[in-house]
Amino acid sequence: MQILVFIETDGGAAVASSWEALGKALSLTDQVSALVIGENVGDVAAEAGSRGAKTVYVIDDASRALFDLDLYAADASNVLSQSEADAFLASHTGNGRDLMAAVGFDLQAGVLADCLDLSADGDKLVGLRPIYSGNILVDATTSGPVQLATLRPRAAAPAEPTGASADIVSVTPAAVAGRVEVQKVERAEAGEISLTDANVIVSGGRGVSKDPELGFKLIGELADTLGAAVGASRAAVDAGFIEYKHQVGQTGKVVRPDLYIACGISGAVQHLAGMNASKVIVAINKDSEAPIFSVANYGIVGDLFDVVPAMNEAAKGKL
Ligand SMILES: Cc1cc2nc3c(=O)[nH]c(=O)nc-3n(C[C@H](O)[C@H](O)[C@H](O)COP(=O)(O)OP(=O)(O)OC[C@H]3O[C@@H](n4cnc5c(N)ncnc54)[C@H](O)[C@@H]3O)c2cc1C
Repeated sequence: MQILVFIETDGGAAVASSWEALGKALSLTDQVSALVIGENVGDVAAEAGSRGAKTVYVIDDASRALFDLDLYAADASNVLSQSEADAFLASHTGNGRDLMAAVGFDLQAGVLADCLDLSADGDKLVGLRPIYSGNILVDATTSGPVQLATLRPRAAAPAEPTGASADIVSVTPAAVAGRVEVQKVERAEAGEISLTDANVIVSGGRGVSKDPELGFKLIGELADTLGAAVGASRAAVDAGFIEYKHQVGQTGKVVRPDLYIACGISGAVQHLAGMNASKVIVAINKDSEAPIFSVANYGIVGDLFDVVPAMNEAAKGKL
């Protein structure tokens, strides 16, 4: 199987989860190429080679500085026809899923969207996909001239740099006119650590309910001390204690930090689906029988309103 991987760029730098898509592709086949589109993206193309892509198709042009769906989809369709790839893979970011939908429409191909994992069955790409709001996970395949898929961020380990180099193929931008003019991109919440990129996450669950405001304040303070992002269970989100963007789990974000601290979270299977690949899991729970302790490396049986501030004080002295 030959897989082309979209390496998304932002301001001339690679979007980190693209390296995860590349890593997953390399775990399935050694016939992996990459597509880099943007402006001043030569370094990203070289890095894609260093991380294992054999051939890197590059469209480096001022007209591609910002993601423009019409232009990027036309470029990707062109490169797909040149590259002889059987499959095209992107990270399931906003731009990645837009791109795949448009390419799928152009090529009349199905898309395996939001895969939690991918495997190969001969030349068939098999995507593990959540359906019915994540109630069921299915193995899905697609038909069409090329197999398209997006991989959820943090669902795979990134391809690591090896010092290898790729054939760099410079491609002329597709001669299409965009229907939308993207004038600028405004970034939300500058300074806040993104959940999917964080190395440390402190999450709160329904266990904060005796005083949700104080509970998430304490969790936020510990997160600040540790340079961590704040996560949450769905119960905490549904109760309105914290916004959905913080939700970890099957219907939230999949995370894979070095350290995950679960505070007042029982450990339902749908929550575990989003965080059980974390390297070290610390659970704080009043109930010594809580299922979260079965996946935790370290468990603290206690009231999070006592334990979290105590951890914060201890951490402040150490960091
Ligand atoms: C289709 C579907 C998709 C779902 N997707 C997700 C998802 O993406 N993410 C997700 O998280 N869930 C998801 N769920 C919900 C999931 O099944 C659980 O209901 C949810 O994870 C429970 O959240 P919780 O652990 O915070 O709450 P609970 O299960 O109520 O657990 C609260 C825990 O806090 C402990 N506790 C209480 N007070 C304290 C205290 N003061 N100090 C310490 N511990 C305390 C309790 O002992 C308990 O273990 C989904 C469910 C369905 C059906």
